[in-house]
Order: sequence, then C-alpha cells, then structure tokens
Amino acid sequence: MKRYIYFFEEGDSKNKKLLGGKGANLCEMTQIGLPVPPGFVITTEACIEYLESKEKEISEELKSQIRDAMKRLEEKTGKGFGDPKNPLLVSVRSGAAISMPGMMDTILNLGLNEDTVKGLAKATDNERFAYDAYRRFIQLFGEIGLRVDEVEFNRIFEKIKAENNAKFDTDLSSDALKELCKRFLELVKEKTGKEFPSDPYQQLFIAVRAVFDSWMGKRAVDYRREFNITPDMANGTAVNICTMVFGNMGEDSATGVAFTRNPATGENRLFGEYMVNAQGEDVVAGIRTPKPIKELRKEMPQVYRELENLRHTLERHYREVQDFEFTIEKGRLYCLQTRDAKMNADAFIKSSIDMVNEGLISEQEAVLRVKPEMLVQLLHPRLDPKIDKEPLAQGIPASPGAASGKIVFDADRAELKGKLGEKVILLREETKPEDIHGFFASQGILTSRGGKTSHAAVVARSMGKPCVSGCEAISVDVQAKEAVVGDVVLREGDIITIDGTTGKVYLDEIPTVEPEFVEDLLVLLEWADEMSTLQVMANADTPEAAKKARKYGAKGIGLCRTERMFNQPDRLPIVQEMILAETKEERQEALEKLLPFQRNDFIEIFKIMEGLPVTIRLLDPPIHEFLPSEDELIHEINHLRKLRSTIEGMEELPDTLKLLDPEIYQKYAANLEMITHAMEEIKNRYDTEPIIKEKETLIEKVRALSEINPMLGHRGVRLGITYPEIYSMQIRAILEAAAECIKEGIDVKPEIMVPQVCTLQELRYVHRYVEEIYQDVKKSYGIEVPFKFGTMIEVVRACMRAGRIAELAEFMSFGTNDLTQATFSFSREDAENKFLPFYNKMGILQHNPFEVLDVKGVGRLMMITVEWAKKTRPDIKIGICGEHGGDPESIRFCHYIGLNYVSCSPPRVPIARLAAAHAKLKEKEYQGI
Ligand code: PEP
Ligand code: MG
Repeated sequence: MKRYIYFFEEGDSKNKKLLGGKGANLCEMTQIGLPVPPGFVITTEACIEYLESKEKEISEELKSQIRDAMKRLEEKTGKGFGDPKNPLLVSVRSGAAISMPGMMDTILNLGLNEDTVKGLAKATDNERFAYDAYRRFIQLFGEIGLRVDEVEFNRIFEKIKAENNAKFDTDLSSDALKELCKRFLELVKEKTGKEFPSDPYQQLFIAVRAVFDSWMGKRAVDYRREFNITPDMANGTAVNICTMVFGNMGEDSATGVAFTRNPATGENRLFGEYMVNAQGEDVVAGIRTPKPIKELRKEMPQVYRELENLRHTLERHYREVQDFEFTIEKGRLYCLQTRDAKMNADAFIKSSIDMVNEGLISEQEAVLRVKPEMLVQLLHPRLDPKIDKEPLAQGIPASPGAASGKIVFDADRAELKGKLGEKVILLREETKPEDIHGFFASQGILTSRGGKTSHAAVVARSMGKPCVSGCEAISVDVQAKEAVVGDVVLREGDIITIDGTTGKVYLDEIPTVEPEFVEDLLVLLEWADEMSTLQVMANADTPEAAKKARKYGAKGIGLCRTERMFNQPDRLPIVQEMILAETKEERQEALEKLLPFQRNDFIEIFKIMEGLPVTIRLLDPPIHEFLPSEDELIHEINHLRKLRSTIEGMEELPDTLKLLDPEIYQKYAANLEMITHAMEEIKNRYDTEPIIKEKETLIEKVRALSEINPMLGHRGVRLGITYPEIYSMQIRAILEAAAECIKEGIDVKPEIMVPQVCTLQELRYVHRYVEEIYQDVKKSYGIEVPFKFGTMIEVVRACMRAGRIAELAEFMSFGTNDLTQATFSFSREDAENKFLPFYNKMGILQHNPFEVLDVKGVGRLMMITVEWAKKTRPDIKIGICGEHGGDPESIRFCHYIGLNYVSCSPPRVPIARLAAAHAKLKEKEYQGI
C-alpha cells in the first residue's frame, strides 16, 4: 500500500518534490516548534497518479487514507468533521515543488453545511462570523469545485449589499449573510442542476480533485512555460489540508501577511500588513486596504511581541528572508505558511550584506543569494529628478522603478499591444492571477485598490516591474475603458508615467535617468570578484562607454569595435572618400585624414582605462555598410530630378494662372512673384546635374561592392588583406596612441585583435604589417610599445585550426555571435525575426542560441578550441566577447571550459561579475555538456 499522506509532524521537510514547497515548509515549521495549526499533506505522487488515471477519479485507496487522516485530525483538535456541535473546518491548498504564487486554487472553510454552520455559530457565540465563513466557502467551493462563474456570485453579493445599504462586506448583518448563503446555494443548484454537496467528505474529495486539476489549468501551465519550470523541477501539486483558524472572530482576531525584512528596501524590521476581523484572502485580494504592521504593536502588544519572536525564529532557521502568513484567533497567534521572500534587487543586496554582518550567513552565501539576472532591475531607469511635475495621483509604492506607457485596461489588450512593440501600463482596479500574461507585456502596473501585498504588488516585484497599487483617487471603469481622477479622464492609449519607488502617477511621459550604484552592491560585487576566477571585461567603443565600463567594475575592455568610430558624422564623409578612391594614393590620402581621429579615440580610451587591457578589433564589417543603400540613392536622385522640373513648373505658374483664371492670379500675384524669385535663386545657386552625377557614381560603387551574403563576404581580415592601407592606418593609430600615452607617463596595455580569421596564414599576413609599423613607431617615438597580438575565433575553421593559430595568437576571443551563426547556419540578421521564436515555442530549441550559448554545439567547438590552443601555447589568454559574455548561464559554461575572461556590454558587467562568482562557487554541481 502506497503512502499518500503525511502529517505535518511526520513529513520529510527536505522532500519538496513529494510534499510541495508549502507542504514541506508546514512540516518543517511544525517540527521546529512554530505555532502551525494541525494538518497533513497529500503527496504530489497522488496528484500525478490522479492526472494519469483514465477515469480522472480519486482512487479508493487515497480516499481511505484521507478518511483515516481526518479521523486523526479530529482526535488532535477535539473537533468533529461534520459535527454540528463542534465542527472541524479545514483549508485545502495547493503547493508545488516550486512556488507559483497565486497560480493555483485554494478552498477555505471546508466542512461547513446547513448544520455545521449553526454549530459553528453556537460554539463561537458569533452567528455573523459563522455565516460569513459559510458564504465565503459556498462561493469559493462553487467557483473552484463546481465551476460556477465568479461573476454570478459577485452579482448576487452586490445586490444584497445594495438591498442592505452596505458599503463593505463588514456592514452586512448576520441575517443578510444568511440570505446571501441561501441565494448562493440556489445559484449553485440552478447552475449545476444539483444540490450543493453537504456531506463534508464529499466536499473534501471534490476539493482535492479541483486542486489536482488546477495543476493543468491555463494559469499554471502558462506560468510554468514562462518560467521554464520543467517536470524535473516540479511535477504535480501536493494538497495541504490544514485545520482552519479564524481571523474574523471579532476585534481580538486578525489576519495578515508579513516579511521578516522589508522586501522593497531590505531594512531589518518586521514589515507587513494586517486586518482586524478579517480572513486571509481579504489581504491578498486587496479588497480592503490593510493597516501597516507597526500599528499592531499598539493594538495587540502581546501578539506583536510573539510576531517579533516568530520573525527571528524563522530567519535563524531558514537563513533567508521569509514571507509568512499569520492569523490571530481570539488573541492566539498562528503561522499558516512561510516561504523565501520574493524581493527586489535592492532588498536582496542590502539584506545580504546585513545578514553577513549579523553573523547569520557567510559572504559566499550572501553572494549566492543574489541571482545575477536580478541586477537587471538596478539598471532600470528612474524618473529624472530635475523634472518637477505635479503628480496626477498618489498610490502605494509597491514595486520600485519608473515606467511610461499607454494605458490599457485589461491583460489581453496589454498582451496584444505589447506584442506589437507598444509600451503599455496595465491599469486595473485590482489584478488577479489570470492577468499574468498582461504583466509580462506591460512596462508597469497601476491598481486603484490593494496594498503592498496585493497580487499586483507581489507579482510585479517578483518580475522587477514598477507597480503602484492602492491608488484610490483613480476610479476605473474597465467596460468603458476609462478611468477618472478628479476632473481628468484617462482613456485607453493615453500616456502616463508611474513611479513605483514613490507611488506617484503622472500624466504624459517623464524622462528617466540611470540609477547610481549603491554602496552595498559595490561591497557584494567586490566579494564576488574575490571569489571568481573568470575576469569580466566590457565591450566598449567610445570614451563614454569606457567610463561606464570602469564604473561598472570591468577589468578592461574585451572588445573595442573600431567601425563604430568610423560612423560618427564628422568621419563618415572621409570614410566614404576612402571607399570611393580610385587609386591607392587617393585612398591613402583619405586614410591619413582618418588617422588622427582614430589615434585620439585610442588615447582617450587608454587614459580612461589607466593600464587595464584594451582589446581593439580591426575593422570588421563590409565597407559598403558605410555607404548609403542603393534604394536611398535612387530615391535621392529622383527627388533631385523632380526638383528641376518643379522649378520650371513654378517659374511658369504665374503665366499659366493668368491664362486660366485672371481673378485668382490677381489675388495671389504678390505671392506668386515671390515664388518666382525664390525659384530663380535656387536655380542659380544649385546646379543639380553634378550632384546627380556624383550620386550615380556612388550607386555604381554600391552596386560593385554589393554582395549576396555580406556577412559571409568581403569583411574582417579579408578586407584587411585586400585593402592593407586600412588595417595599417588602424594599427598605426593604436601603436602611436599607446606611444603618446607612455610619453605622458600613462600605463597602457593595447591588444590588437583581428576579426574573422580562419587560417594562420591570414593572421601572419596582418602580423607583417604590425611588425613593420611597430618598428616605425619605435623609431619615431623612441619607445617600445608593449602590446599583444591576437584573434577573434568566430569561424568554425578557426576552431578546428586553433592549435596552429595559437602559434602566432597571444590571445583569442570567441565571437560567439558569428560563431553561433556559422555553427547553426542561421543568419543572425534574420533568424530571430523569422523562425526562431517558433522553434522556441515548439520546443525544437530550448533557448534562442543568440542569447544563451548553445553549449552542446557551439560550446563543444569552444571546448575543442581551448584544448588545442592551450596545447600549443599553455599560457594563451582566451575569452569571449559575443553577446553571450553577459548571460549568466553562458558565463557558467565559460568558467567550466577554463576561459580567462568574459566581455559584455557595460551595464551587464555587474551581472557578469556576480555570475562569474556563482560559476566558481557552484562549479562542483555543474554537469557540463
Ligand atoms: C561576435 O561575432 O561575436 C562579435 C563579437 O563580433 P560582431 O558581433 O561585431 O560581429
Ligand atoms: Mg563577429
């Protein structure tokens, strides 16, 4: 006989896969002596067996085990399941191995029926409370267990409220609630054709089944897909059956949600909200606005002290900030559930540092607590402090960061518009789990109701998206797609800005600024650097980017793409002159004009980098990229041609009009004369013929340079070999800039990198220019410039010939953008817009290989390359500078194959630093390929 049930005092709290996260936690909490109401867990195995069963019925075996467990629960609580005198009521909650907040259904107050509700009223001496619990149960059970539409219940509820002149549910008398229950029961009968089940065991089995079914519900399936939760990580949901305790038994009862530290700032202080005389879902649903927890200190001082103790016990035991639910039933505190808190990056970082200082965790644990991707939040823009604009409304700052976008009133519209690339803000009264797809598509969330622990707040925080909740000044009318704030009416498509850090809401778009690094993050990243072996460099092409690279803690520049220097407006005409040159001499002349620009760029960058390595890549893209496209030129020529005939027409216009309509001519005679003069002036000043000729020559050049497959064409080292003057100019600019700096006493470490190399011979060819120019610079400056010479590895053949190439290359840098393109034969320009999303959706490829390194294919090539290159040159420096250099998973692989460095865009440097430390600290667990 298989065991499907474990009581909280028996279950193995390590076995989340079997008991679910919540169940395992309840076991752990009970076993460490926290005040958890008695209960038991039905395992995830039972769920999977049910889902796989043909009949989709709960087996007799499971039913029998549930009956035995309920008997035991009756003994523990001294109450009876279905006993009208002293009824035992239970909650039925889902809980998978991985937390999926609000993704699945929960049923409360199960065990109530026409008899037990009376018993409960008598036992508690509180009829109103009993019928309040009953109506909640009928509704929840009706919706989840019997699939009656929520809207139908709400309609009846609103009607009863109106009939009784009640503003809030708490204003309803017990008679009104009784009537409400009656109408709810009638509704269920009408919609299902059956009586509402009154047998508690029948209720329990239906509820367990509904929880099992919710694992395959749309919300849960969507969530698992979005967060890549595979069956290995969580398979099925457990069901937690727990004795009900009530926060709505009068003024000495309450319910709340708390965090052991502030989840928005990390501050080490109990944080949360509670509501007196209320049930748990009132807080989460945001139907009434709760009070901050510090008020409980005055209202119930003894319980507050117990909560403080509970907070310390939780953190000492879990060594992690906890998010827990509590209920106070007639002055007695119960802890219903606890889980690791979802916090924003600021809070994670601050609490990491604090917890180390408090001796709660080690530095390594502190570094590992902060997931690298989480730092992305810190790179979110904030409102420009210089902009002083009156806010439209003030809500609760529920998730920090600022965002602007067009208002949409429902999640489907948000998804639709988001997919079209529009920036949207989801504005709702409150949000629900089924709105999740709208969250993904929105820049931020704004709700008119709910507190910091409402659904909108919790989900937005976990996604790192800005959220303002409880903005009660806004009244939202979803049907009319309208919201009203004072005398302002907001409609779909209107632009607003929300600031989740302050809770303010503004009309129109407000500019944002980049955030500054906080001291705690600097400390954490320093710890990370000490722990990691991989160095983190930045991809930076300009002095501004170099400054950013330093600010974010890069240990040098791993890729300086020199073509970006060619694109600046003051240089582009010279670059074009060089391209259009008919002779070598003419080309040389243009290049001589470019040389000082390049040299100055390098001097500036070297100065900023102060002796850190700067890897400069010689020109890579095909040169036609610096010319206008053929279409553009044709368009311009057409315009110029038309200009001539337009002028002629305009000149003749006065005479034509005189002929046609003398009256009109008279009316505009003065203006027409002016136009004739203007045309004459344009004609005299510009001769369009030579301009057209020039453009036609340019078209011919563009046509001559055009290639079917430019990415596989005349680019990189191939260009350098066929136009040696270009690479020579760049090499000279690098070495002369270095010599200038050395002359000024500035330390420099230039590295010359050749792109697109596929054979040692190519590298040799370029190396010859380097040698010559080096000697030249040495002679003219009297300085021996120290430099390294190396290559990109971005062509499959280069991987295969790495052993030979390493004879000359002192360093190698994987250009995994091109290498991925070459390995898959997927055009990096087109794949991402065409078939790749479909491949990902259908599971043909798990990731976009241009974002996350394909370790099995591209990674295998890299591994071979490293091995062969090191055989030839054991001390060779090898890194990566493709986009993957900033992706944590890819960084883990780079560490595994023994690279020396990763290089990524400056804002991703902090992420990469943390990821490099994680890679080192978790290297033993890495499976490799
Ligand atoms: C690469 O191919 O990975 C690379 C860094 O070069 P680029 O993206 O400039 O081609
Ligand atoms: Mg490349």
